[in-house]
Amino acid sequence: MTEATVRLRYGGATDVGRVRSNNQDAYLATGRVFVVADGMGGHQGGEVASRLAVAKLEEHVVEATTPTLLEGVRLANRSIVEEAESDLDLRGMGTTVCLLAPVDTEIGPRLAVVNVGDSRLYRYAGEDLRQITEDHSLVESLVREGRLTTDEAAAHPQRNILTRALGVSEDLELDWWELPVRPGDRFVLCSDGLFNELTDDQISAVLRRLADPAEAADELVRLALEAGGRDNVTVVIVDVVAADDLPPGDEEGGGDGPIPRPSVVRASYDRPIDDLAGFSTAVPPDDGDPVGADPAEPVPVEAAEAAESTPRSSRRPWTRWRVVGYLGLLVVVAVVALVAIGVYARSNYFVDVRGDDVVILQGRPGGVLWFDATIEEVSEVVVADLTPALLEEVQGNPEYASLDGARAYVETLAERAEPTPDPTTNG
Ligand code: CA
Repeated sequence: MTEATVRLRYGGATDVGRVRSNNQDAYLATGRVFVVADGMGGHQGGEVASRLAVAKLEEHVVEATTPTLLEGVRLANRSIVEEAESDLDLRGMGTTVCLLAPVDTEIGPRLAVVNVGDSRLYRYAGEDLRQITEDHSLVESLVREGRLTTDEAAAHPQRNILTRALGVSEDLELDWWELPVRPGDRFVLCSDGLFNELTDDQISAVLRRLADPAEAADELVRLALEAGGRDNVTVVIVDVVAADDLPPGDEEGGGDGPIPRPSVVRASYDRPIDDLAGFSTAVPPDDGDPVGADPAEPVPVEAAEAAESTPRSSRRPWTRWRVVGYLGLLVVVAVVALVAIGVYARSNYFVDVRGDDVVILQGRPGGVLWFDATIEEVSEVVVADLTPALLEEVQGNPEYASLDGARAYVETLAERAEPTPDPTTNG
């Protein structure tokens, strides 16, 4: 087997969109680490949070290993939490982070992925687009519980409610993966401004059509704007290529060039993967998966600290509107349920005995929750008129959908209770 050097070619693009006044997305594409961060909260808070995350990661990721990446994300989280605490104007800020980076592991080079929030990493391979990350959003939780379909989730008005983000708490739960390095794979990191505007098929069509990563990123952003551009849109594309496949004259790549700054890059860069810190080995161009796992099915690995981490329940201000939104949704669901129960409880009549009287009640025998049955009519029939069999029948609470139905039954009682006329006394 011939060994070939593997390089990463990449490009990114971002746009404020057609509705928002500022761009709260930020991205990083340095060759060492690729990040998309989607900030939220406050006046400038979202911008500050996403830029802070990206800056901290750029600073921290020098020797990329999965543990340093996880630590970098935690450091970024801590800076955002501290910054928000020290500046009232920034209270409530937070950000997603979706990160891809080449790392050296015991079993060779890998592409590490770390994710918090609802920005996404997709892998496009063999014309198949697959989402690698899992969204940390309310709608995604509902989909997993089988309470929403993916189509319903995609159109759900509350799809922007996050269950995890940086800036919420010092305690942060991270998802991470280590993917095999396979030439031909194309990775797409993006904010929700992309996948809320374009379908998977539309995204795939661009990835198939445009080989240059920067051009493809630009085109995806352009199409998202054309589709509405209701949110900030950010796309970073990273291609894994065998060095042999690079166009002639392109071998030098971006490895010697300046490291691009976040959020301004629209050019294409490439960098030999073994040129990176921690990368000393060349990677076979094919079947470069030493553990033999199906690379199309990356196994999500809980964070190394998963045992001690707990799900977030943020009380910080930035999530207030989201929490309020969530609680509001719960209240609406509860009210709708109560109304439905109330309607059910009251849409019924039954017959019973109260004291000496046979009465018609509205409601359900025994009541439903706190919807007690109420006496609707006291009939002219009294217990003394009834035979023991009829009394037992009435005490069984025959039920009717309407008051008239119950009245008709009571009338039959009166007839059935009347003593048979004695032919000998009437002449
Ligand atoms: Ca967004």
